[in-house]
Amino acid sequence: MTRLPFRPEFADEVPYGAPQLDVPVALNVNENPYPPDADLLADIARAAGEAASRLNRYPDRDFVALRQDLADYLAEESGVRVPAAQIWAANGSNEIMLHLLQAFAGPGRTVLSFAPTYSMYPEYARDTFSRWVVGPRREDFSIDVQAAREAIARERPAVILLASPNNPTGTALARGELEGILDAAAASGPEDGSSERPSSLVVVDEAYAEFRRDGTPSALELLARYPHAVVTRTMSKAFGAAALRLGYLAASREVVDAVTVVRLPYHLSAVTQAVARVALAHREPLRRQVAQIRMARDALAQELRDRGLRVAPSDANFLLFGTFPDRHAVWQALLERGVLIREVGPEGWLRVSIGTPEENAAFLAALGEAM
Ligand SMILES: *Cc1c(COP(=O)(O)O)cnc(C)c1O
Repeated sequence: MTRLPFRPEFADEVPYGAPQLDVPVALNVNENPYPPDADLLADIARAAGEAASRLNRYPDRDFVALRQDLADYLAEESGVRVPAAQIWAANGSNEIMLHLLQAFAGPGRTVLSFAPTYSMYPEYARDTFSRWVVGPRREDFSIDVQAAREAIARERPAVILLASPNNPTGTALARGELEGILDAAAASGPEDGSSERPSSLVVVDEAYAEFRRDGTPSALELLARYPHAVVTRTMSKAFGAAALRLGYLAASREVVDAVTVVRLPYHLSAVTQAVARVALAHREPLRRQVAQIRMARDALAQELRDRGLRVAPSDANFLLFGTFPDRHAVWQALLERGVLIREVGPEGWLRVSIGTPEENAAFLAALGEAM
């Protein structure tokens, strides 16, 4: 029998697998519950058709027009204008993270994060042969900045990954916390043979930023002061385009130059670029959807608390709630009632995405029965 030379360190690994089940109410992967409207669909069809008319040619490798549109969107959303040359995009923010770790982490280097956090981060570290280290979060899922500073000084990470708002807890970092970590990371990077120590790259994953509550800052506001800061965003969540696969980052020119080295040639298809630009141009309806989802989130959190449950304060489009002596039984009972949520996070907790008003009501009804 033939054996394949699969890398031994991967032998016991299984592929990423949030269950993709066909259920009436899918509240498990934090998608925007509203499909594209008819206007957007018509424009997507036209733009995809135009892109397809040049399908024999390679796409714009540097996706200049899309970067400009993303920069304009960020300026509008956060009030921070970042030049288009300081924007980078890829097939989902998961490819952005891979680019960052390929360029800055790797064998002999450390990636540091604070758990509980996004379950994909250790996989990105594994796939780039980087060492993965987690520091703790407090009981309320916030980051203890003093403990973080100590971890940074001790571990000398090449890259620090901070999801804000964090998944699966919904916790956002305050400005002072971000500054504390960025200051601690200014010269804490790995030994690279030069007399001056490099920084640790601090990646703030803002996949859920559009859902943040009033007063919660975006790390975009800190980019100009911290050349070792990177903000990543995605069109998979608030933008309602998870199937498009478009993630992006804003950072210093040095960061963009570095990821350009490791990207695969022509990694963003012409169809992806064209459809992303159309979706960005149609952002007006999103504002209403995001406002509606934020309100529904706060109402749902209150309802769960009224039922005697704990709910982590959330700046995202999901809630982490609990605690249950047997969370799997609750998850299963919901599934049997056609409601799929996510069994994730610390023992005893469950995560539910905010859906349409009908979906949220179906979730509450099913939960009432399940408990
Ligand atoms: C959903 C999510 C993303 C988005 O990933 P994409 O590859 O852009 O779909 C990124 N980070 C976190 C923490 C997420 O929860």
